[in-house]
Amino acid sequence: MEAVSVKKWMDNVIKPEEVEKFRKNGKDFINETSIQEKLMANKQPEKQRIREIIAKALELNRLNPDETAALLNCTDEELWQEMYAAGLKIKQKVYGRRIVTFAPLYISNYCVNNCVYCGYRIGNQETTRKRMSMEELAAEIKALISKGHKRLIMVYGEHPQSDVHYIAETLQVAYSTKEGNGEIRRANVNAAPLAIDDYKILRDVGIGTFQVFQETYHRPTYQRLHPSGLKADYAWRLYSLHRAMEAGVDDVGIGALFGLYDWKYDVMGLLMHTIDLEERFGGVGPHTISFPRLQPAVNTPFVEEDPYLVRDDIFKKLVTVIRLSVPYTGMILTARENAAIRNDVINVGCTQIDAGSNIGIGGYSEETLDYNRQQFILGDNRSLDEAIRDMAKLGYITSFCTAGYRCGRTGNYFMEIAQKGKVHNLCMPNAILTFKEYLLDYASDETRNEAEFLIEQELAALPSEQVRKSVSEMLNRIENGARDLFL
Ligand code: SF4
Repeated sequence: MEAVSVKKWMDNVIKPEEVEKFRKNGKDFINETSIQEKLMANKQPEKQRIREIIAKALELNRLNPDETAALLNCTDEELWQEMYAAGLKIKQKVYGRRIVTFAPLYISNYCVNNCVYCGYRIGNQETTRKRMSMEELAAEIKALISKGHKRLIMVYGEHPQSDVHYIAETLQVAYSTKEGNGEIRRANVNAAPLAIDDYKILRDVGIGTFQVFQETYHRPTYQRLHPSGLKADYAWRLYSLHRAMEAGVDDVGIGALFGLYDWKYDVMGLLMHTIDLEERFGGVGPHTISFPRLQPAVNTPFVEEDPYLVRDDIFKKLVTVIRLSVPYTGMILTARENAAIRNDVINVGCTQIDAGSNIGIGGYSEETLDYNRQQFILGDNRSLDEAIRDMAKLGYITSFCTAGYRCGRTGNYFMEIAQKGKVHNLCMPNAILTFKEYLLDYASDETRNEAEFLIEQELAALPSEQVRKSVSEMLNRIENGARDLFL
């Protein structure tokens, strides 16, 4: 594509009026000074105060900024152990012993931006650029379905070649491609911020969650790390999910890339973002929060020189504080982390993981691991089957359930049942049913043998006798060839 037409496209993307309308009295909801002051004011929290905050989170109440700042400043290891345990308890209360699983699918890595930490940045000459054709995409999706996947996060660089019309077309391909008994039932998107009318196009083709990560909420750092391109506009990104919600995309996912700035500050930023969305959209905040940690990327020296890299023990702490701060929200732990870290951190309250991931464009159908086509280097290369087996050993049933979205349990409706701790009454039965399908259609003998006990265990634990009976009947029907059954 010619540089002139790329430039012309870029000139028309950002609509300042769609930022301004969400500001309060012309001010952003992120106020650096106020965040730093909260962190200072809650510097040495008393034991008793931390325990009161934990108790509030256990009642599934969102914390306020002072409370989150106090948890972040805790230095007492005994109290951290209590927080880890509370994180798990909250997760069980809201979601049950269930882990939702998805695959990331990188579609195009052309990008007009120059994020200094990213392998796809425009200035990186060593990246092999590729945008999938619809035929190549269908092959990727078939490869994913044949492993048992039902849910995707589709990822795109920011470029006119992967504009909203291209994204909409790829979503249609994702939903219409079938393979054997399988299909993709939920396609989420991670892409650049859009304007309100463009979000409506994605809403109309049945997008799942739309994710935009702010990377860091610290404005001076943000400006330094995003020196050019559309992403240099902090506020356009900050209100991207406000626009999505306004356009009727019910489920949105926020995130910060930990390692760019002080981890405590960015946890506070995630909380402020949650609060602002809740205040504006009738109590509906982010459907998911992501907390990726910076990883090495091809020809990207920034990562080696970065002073804010987050240690493993700190990573566990920050995930725990997010869990306690927003107890009813989904939390995504990605394969950026290695298997040992994931198996540990999952126990402080995460609800979703990706598995069997390949982030090289075209990597699933070609079965290659080409680092030059990756945005960063993955930490966990377990297959989906191995990851599911490991989750089963930890006592988690893997859910491929997407019934909630197809029955309209999104946005307001989902938040209401999540905040009241009732998701597992609807979702655990569906997790059991989709897990049964997986074990029958895709699992290795080893995984089937080691994981099957979870079906009986979780069936027996269902609170309602009537639901238990219906699920038992459906399990029999699945044994006899029925598929896609859900409550
Ligand atoms: S982080 Fe995203 S926007 Fe930035 S260079 Fe990479 S792909 Fe482009």
